[in-house]
Amino acid sequence: LHSSSSTTESCSVKVAVNVRPLIGDEISQGCRECVSVSPVTPQVQMGTHSFTFDHVYGGSNGSPSSLMFEECVAPLVHGLFHGYNATVLAYGQTGSGKTYTMGTAFKDGSSNGLIPQVMTALFNKIESVKHQMGFQLHVSFIEILKEEVLDLLDSVRLANGAPGKVGLSKSPVQIRESPNGVITLSGATEVPIATKEEMASCLEQGSLTRATGSTNMNNQSSRSHAIFTISLEQTRKITPISVVEDTIDEDMGEEYSCAKLHLVDLAGSERAKRTGSGGARLKEGIHINRGLLALGNVISALGDEKKRKEGAHVPYRDSKLTRLLQDSLGGNSKTVMIACISPADINAEETLNTLKYANRAR
Ligand code: ADP
Ligand code: MG
Repeated sequence: LHSSSSTTESCSVKVAVNVRPLIGDEISQGCRECVSVSPVTPQVQMGTHSFTFDHVYGGSNGSPSSLMFEECVAPLVHGLFHGYNATVLAYGQTGSGKTYTMGTAFKDGSSNGLIPQVMTALFNKIESVKHQMGFQLHVSFIEILKEEVLDLLDSVRLANGAPGKVGLSKSPVQIRESPNGVITLSGATEVPIATKEEMASCLEQGSLTRATGSTNMNNQSSRSHAIFTISLEQTRKITPISVVEDTIDEDMGEEYSCAKLHLVDLAGSERAKRTGSGGARLKEGIHINRGLLALGNVISALGDEKKRKEGAHVPYRDSKLTRLLQDSLGGNSKTVMIACISPADINAEETLNTLKYANRAR
């Protein structure tokens, strides 16, 4: 009904900044804070630079991070029940708090990250409406490394029947687009989920595979994008308003919808030059930049009202990451980018890069 006004009024991309506290390493090195947050507007200052975002969390004046889920992510979870796809992206240099913020390292169950909160909200909502609806949930958990898509839940599939060693096999996955524009992953494990515990176990298993299943143990997670996807299928029985004679057949009274939420822990945004020297390492750096670069271009094209109206090209095809997220970025879908930053002066250069990248997304 109000689709035209809602697309012009509110941009479908929201950008929040999360300033984590100084951590042990930084404190022991005697780092000073070089980032300040305005107490009145969602604004971040660094030296002479000043940026305004939709929300700023953390820092001495930012909103408490505990509000991030309610303000940024809960609306996306609710949107799923109305058939809207959505994407949450954590962006920032390695060590800036992406994994902490997303809750992708689901170690001891104590994580207060966004994904565990999504799970709670999702199952609460299902519980409250399940008498009128039928639900089917699936999750997949994949990783994009060097422009290759890897299945992090392969070990779950193997553990559920097929023989093989857990955590060793990572099968390649293909990204497919159906004629109606729906993106699917062929070859990725889609685990049917009945309970919150089952979903949490997939998160945990995949995080473990991501951390330990690598051939190069050294810091792989900082160079790959990890994407935890929840898909929700709903069937609603429609009660006919008036039953005309005997013309109603059984199937007429059913409504089906399917929507998905991608929760993305992006690769570290630091430049290749900082990740070390040498051929292979540098090549990975370039590939990671391809995903992050394409994402920046896609999001900035989506945010640019004028360009969108002119039907400007949105460069989804430039990377695996944007290709995979294509049906969940832009259009009717909702996107939240959370730019994670360290307040420490030693990270000032990368922090400024992150703020500039995030600012471009608005
Ligand atoms: P990234 O995933 O961006 O590399 P991490 O999430 O691993 O960064 O965070 C780096 C370190 O900072 C970890 O030790 C983590 O526990 C800590 N950290 C991150 N965010 C916070 C926060 N908001 N409060 C306290 N510690 C944090
Ligand atoms: Mg991480």
